[in-house]
Amino acid sequence: MSIPETLLAFAGHLLWPAACPLCGALGVPVCLECLLPLLNPPLAEDLGPVKLWTGGRHEGLLREFALEMKYGGNRPLALVMGRALGRIFPPPEADCLVPVPLHRGSTRIYNQSAALASGIAREWNLPVIDGLLWREERSTQTALPEEQRRNMPSDALAPRRGRIAGKRAVLVDDVATTGTTLRRAASALERGGGRTVLAMTWTHSPKASP
Ligand SMILES: [Zn+2]
Repeated sequence: MSIPETLLAFAGHLLWPAACPLCGALGVPVCLECLLPLLNPPLAEDLGPVKLWTGGRHEGLLREFALEMKYGGNRPLALVMGRALGRIFPPPEADCLVPVPLHRGSTRIYNQSAALASGIAREWNLPVIDGLLWREERSTQTALPEEQRRNMPSDALAPRRGRIAGKRAVLVDDVATTGTTLRRAASALERGGGRTVLAMTWTHSPKASP
């Protein structure tokens, strides 16, 4: 974990209230009902061959939630965020949800994309399949310059053997930037015999920011 990430995680633990930050209800990281109006209207966008459903732009409160989920290690929050995504979009014709995996060597305590997928899965009654892996250790996407993200090798992600063959999958990631990661994930699913129906993210940041 880099120094800025460590600081953000530390700040997240200190600042995030043990109550819904929007209405003050105790005992929840955020209320599902409080979250839904923030995602209105949700966005459907086109990232080349991959269709994207996203909660909104990566700014304001939506960005704050994304940062706390990722750098604050707040898995309970991620689950509610996933449920909110599952509520605002109707279940598509799909067999499973496949989260973008953590990078090899990541020191994160959990995969925020997998937690989001679990929340969506609960609303859509679909299984979550850990079907992809990164082929090589690399720094996180948002830490890379724009050009390097676009130049990510076409086989940067690989399918896990036997897990996704014949499956129609919804890819899940926390934040979409250029869409390169999602396109590589879709390509890996295809090589594993699966098919990407669409991708879902909490937010979309056409210009990358952490
Ligand atoms: Zn609330």
